[in-house]
Amino acid sequence: MKVLVINAGSSSLKYQLYDMTNETVLAKGLVERIGMDSSILTHKPTGKEEVTEVSEILEHTTAIRKVLEKLTDKEHGVLSSVDEIQAVGHRVVHGGETFKGSALVTPEVKAEIRRLFDLAPLHNPPAIMGINAAEVNMPGVPNVVAFDTAFHQTMEEKVYLYPIPKVLYKKHRIRRYGAHGTSHQYVSRVAAEFLNRPIEELKIITCHIGNGASLTAVKGGVSVDTSMGLTPLEGLMMGTRSGDLDPTVVTFVMNKEELSISEVNSMLNKHSGLLAISGSSSDMRDITDGWEAGKPNETLAFEMYEYRLRKYIGAYAAAMNGVDVIVFTAGVGENSAIVREKTCENLSYLGVELDKELNKVRSGEPRRISTPNSKVEVLVIPTNEELMIARDTLQIVQESK
Ligand code: ADP
Repeated sequence: MKVLVINAGSSSLKYQLYDMTNETVLAKGLVERIGMDSSILTHKPTGKEEVTEVSEILEHTTAIRKVLEKLTDKEHGVLSSVDEIQAVGHRVVHGGETFKGSALVTPEVKAEIRRLFDLAPLHNPPAIMGINAAEVNMPGVPNVVAFDTAFHQTMEEKVYLYPIPKVLYKKHRIRRYGAHGTSHQYVSRVAAEFLNRPIEELKIITCHIGNGASLTAVKGGVSVDTSMGLTPLEGLMMGTRSGDLDPTVVTFVMNKEELSISEVNSMLNKHSGLLAISGSSSDMRDITDGWEAGKPNETLAFEMYEYRLRKYIGAYAAAMNGVDVIVFTAGVGENSAIVREKTCENLSYLGVELDKELNKVRSGEPRRISTPNSKVEVLVIPTNEELMIARDTLQIVQESK
């Protein structure tokens, strides 16, 4: 079965086409600047040259039509006909409390995703545009939605509620939802497979650290706590997001600086984190370069980032009364040996012992970076949210037949 995975943003659309008989990627690509003049489609068929096309793509329906044209193109295509695509999987950011797993798209499911717009005003509307566009371009082909929040729906009430008046939860559904669920679920499963141990008996801390960053405590295969909250702002210090702070900072700054709600939201989401402290970059590569060169602002940014990450690992070891496995994934987690080294250096009280040489190896495959004596297995596992969505899509479509 061939499954197309779509990740639709407001002005972009990423895609990957899978052959699920052997879980291989046949082609992948990206449409950028949708709705603007000169939209760019970048298409990469596996084993062939990447092609780029500039044209006017005003909305998602045209974007998917262009993608399907490329997928069936004589020169750059990988399919003889669109009919070969048997299902489409969509990434959706917010599934609220309704979706505890991926779901087959029905009119009711779409209505529910729309009802959740106020919880993810920037992210859920484009997902609906992506689903509609797939329905128009591929009539009769089943669509499946996979939610970033779904994996965390196993968190207990004591974990997901904020200690604020309960009426706010009842009226506005204000609670902790988490994010990056597809990634945390994927890498925790791969960790158990890699170690050849049943996931049910493992306490795993998954560190998804990219531009956005979150940690999850996975006990017995389910998420028991995660660092993101109502929105992806809570938790770790990130590229441009503050992570945890005293909520009074918000009202104080709004008052002193006469900032509006949208200005303070922008400050905390786009102008904080590594970028704010270094004053130069949100990219961990620049921060570690600056730290190695002894630049004071980058050094402080690096130290704050690592300190906050380590504190959360300690918190989740406490939450689970121990930890068997720590997994590093996503842009920083997979690539930055120095972030992993510095973080693990201060986890010796948990029995973590890093093999510094193994930690420096790059492979793109799941690998162990702890020593044989380490009480905690430390792994680097490349995340693959698209594959996880394709697997869910295949399973749900087969079950629905
Ligand atoms: P997103 O959260 O947008 O999906 P990624 O998971 O791709 O992001 O992570 C992107 C980030 O990964 C970059 O901003 C950069 O900070 C970091 N990164 C990528 N490569 C390296 C590297 N070699 N060393 C340190 N950080 C890296």
